[in-house]
Amino acid sequence: MIEFDNVKKTYADSTVAIENVSFEVAEGTTTVLVGPSGCGKTTTMKLVNRLEDPTEGTVYYDGTDTQAIDVTELRRDIGYVIQEIGLFNHMTVGENVATVPKLKGWDADRIDDRVDELLELMALPPTKYRDQYPRELSGGQRQRVGVARALAADPDVLLMDEPFGALDPITRADLQDEFLEIQAEINTTILFVTHSIDEALKMGDKIAIFDVGELVQYDTPRNILEDP
Ligand code: ADP
Ligand code: ADP
Repeated sequence: MIEFDNVKKTYADSTVAIENVSFEVAEGTTTVLVGPSGCGKTTTMKLVNRLEDPTEGTVYYDGTDTQAIDVTELRRDIGYVIQEIGLFNHMTVGENVATVPKLKGWDADRIDDRVDELLELMALPPTKYRDQYPRELSGGQRQRVGVARALAADPDVLLMDEPFGALDPITRADLQDEFLEIQAEINTTILFVTHSIDEALKMGDKIAIFDVGELVQYDTPRNILEDP
C-alpha cells in the first residue's frame, strides 16, 4: 500500500532529516513510527501525503510513485491527524466532521448518517455533541472529533502524528483503547507517529524504530520484545 524505497530527505538548510529509509506497509495494517524527538518521524509521514517530497529515493502509493500522483487526488485518499488538532473553531462538531465528505460531494443524508455514526463510534453521542463548538469540549473530546473528521470520508490511509500526545495519561489510554476497537472495524492503512514505545507496542501491527534519521528496526511488536 505504502512503500519507501531508499528515501532521503534533506531540508533547504541542509539538515538531513532521514536517510536510507526503506519499508513497506501492507494494506489494512497499522505501522507505528517511534523514536526520540527530531529523528525524522514527522518527515517520513509528510513524505506520504507530499507535504514534503523526497530528495532521493521513491515513495510509492499503491504501487505508483507519489511524485506522479496529483497532490489533491493523493490527499483525498489520505486522512491526517496531528497533535493539537486543527479543528475549525467557527464550525460545530458536526460541520467539522462533515468537511471532507462535503468536498467529495456526498449528498446531505449520507453525510448526516456518517457524522452520527462516527460521533457514536468516538463516544461523543451526536444528540449531545453534534451542534456544540470545539471550545465547549475538553482536549480529549476535541481530539476525538479530529479522529472522526479524518475518518469521515473513508480514507484508504490515515496518517496520525502524535494524535494523543497532548492528552493526560488516563484520557490517552482511553483513546488508545477506543482507537484499537475502531481499527478492528475498518480496513484503513494507518501510519502512526509516537515517541512512546509503550504506545507503539500497543497500537502497532508493525513498528518502525527510528534513531537520528535512520530506520534501525522494522518488525512486529512480538519480535521487537523478543529481540530488543
Ligand atoms: P520527529 O518527527 O522525529 O521529531 P522531524 O521529522 O520533525 O522529526 O525532524 C527531523 C529533523 O529534521 C530534525 O532535525 C528537524 O529539526 C529537521 N526538520 C524538520 N522539519 C524541518 C524543516 N522544515 N526545515 C529544516 N529542518 C527541518
Ligand atoms: P515534532 O517534534 O512534534 O515532529 P517539531 O516541533 O519538531 O515537531 O516541528 C514542528 C514543525 O516545525 C514541523 O512542521 C516541522 O516540519 C517544522 N520544523 C522542525 N524543525 C525545523 C527546522 N529546523 N526548521 C524549520 N522548520 C522546522
